[in-house]
Amino acid sequence: LFAGPVTFVKGVVAMSGLPPADRVEVCFAGRSNVGKSSLINALTGRKTLARASNTPGRTQEINYFALGEERYMVDLPGYGYAEAPVAIVAKWQALLKSYLAGRQTLRRAFVLIDMRHGVKAVDAEILALLDRSAVTFQVVLTKADKINRAEREATLAQVRGALAKHPAAYPELVVTSSEKGEGIVTLRAIIAGLE
Ligand code: GDP
Repeated sequence: LFAGPVTFVKGVVAMSGLPPADRVEVCFAGRSNVGKSSLINALTGRKTLARASNTPGRTQEINYFALGEERYMVDLPGYGYAEAPVAIVAKWQALLKSYLAGRQTLRRAFVLIDMRHGVKAVDAEILALLDRSAVTFQVVLTKADKINRAEREATLAQVRGALAKHPAAYPELVVTSSEKGEGIVTLRAIIAGLE
């Protein structure tokens, strides 16, 4: 899969807890329930590496995984959870802003979008933050197995339209299904190819 074993490094709750910025890093962001944990598990070939962590009030951690010795994969907490307490959302947003603006080794953010829903307002907020932080982001469509071909084309068109106004967007979309394995090899190769 990747050069070396995939391991959990640590959960980070403040900038001071970040591991040394000594290797290429990618992060994953997406709305709660978008399929982020399933995708990370499919990518790493580990069934229980990432766990859905969307319980309201739960500490929002940035989870670091090492992909061999050369890369970090970073799991950002799911956003858009309607019942999350305001204070926790504010704390999380502050950490997210600091992380995106300040992490020099962050090469790309993968923003997960449910293929049934397309880009929603809450996603657009994250995309705007990535623009402002000058972090190149690439949209990964999830749960492709849940819709038919016509619906797929409709979502792809909607997402391409939404991305047109985001300067930090990487133009190529990745269509995935963690359930069926679609797009997993492609996404792995993209991550492995980032220098
Ligand atoms: P997270 O909250 O973003 O980490 O989302 P999860 O990975 O926990 O997935 C949320 C729900 O969507 C779970 O019930 C998963 O089984 C389901 N799910 C995730 N990925 C897929 C997929 O590719 N296809 C289908 N059909 N269901 C998926």
